[in-house]
Amino acid sequence: MALRRLGGGLLDLVYPPTCLDCGAPVSTHGSLCPNCFKQLRPITAPYCPVLGLPFEVSLGAGALSVEAIADPPPFDRARSAVLYNEVARAIVSRLKYGNRPELAVFCARLMLGAGADLWADAPVLVPVPLHVTRQLQRRYNQSAELARILARRLGLSVDTGLVSRARRTRQQVGLSSAARERNVAGAFSVRPDAVGRLRGRGVVLVDDVITTGSTVKAITRALRRAGIAKIDVISFARVVTGAEVPI
Ligand SMILES: [Zn+2]
Repeated sequence: MALRRLGGGLLDLVYPPTCLDCGAPVSTHGSLCPNCFKQLRPITAPYCPVLGLPFEVSLGAGALSVEAIADPPPFDRARSAVLYNEVARAIVSRLKYGNRPELAVFCARLMLGAGADLWADAPVLVPVPLHVTRQLQRRYNQSAELARILARRLGLSVDTGLVSRARRTRQQVGLSSAARERNVAGAFSVRPDAVGRLRGRGVVLVDDVITTGSTVKAITRALRRAGIAKIDVISFARVVTGAEVPI
């Protein structure tokens, strides 16, 4: 314990802790300065029990969002920690490209609480896969990092081999919702032994950002075809139409 404290102290001397977003000095590693932290918009109740979209006012227990009624998603429930705004975008882009593992720890900490409803039945965490060539370019799949940290904290297991990208897709950025759906349709394949591999447990798909949901929907459909019954989704950030920054 004393050694760990000493280690932490030395680390702080060599690398003084700085804000994960703006770089201002902070008191502990892996945190945001108060100014950046207050710009994060956590998604808290009341929200749609299916899509996890925040409600302006409570519609009463069990009331669904218009979006969930008009276009029911193939997954059971989605939850996200924060709205995708400027600060969330900065965190996610650094998480993706910056090789900064402390960012994944920060994001996962917020996802733990946001997904509290999802952990009870000991699901298997399944990160949204990158295509193998993209993973080689980046060396690191941010969703797999998030899934690993969540699993460690929750005592759950991660399965990075259950779902793979069968073909390379265009980057989703700049595509309309319908074009995104087409882009990822059939892009994912699920191991044929998926049902046996899960031994009756459900799946929670883990992603950094949910934009239109087309990727997690495509994976969910592939999992359903493989016979998986219980599928939820967790992300760090969530694009909410009409709320703050567009992509
Ligand atoms: Zn800051």
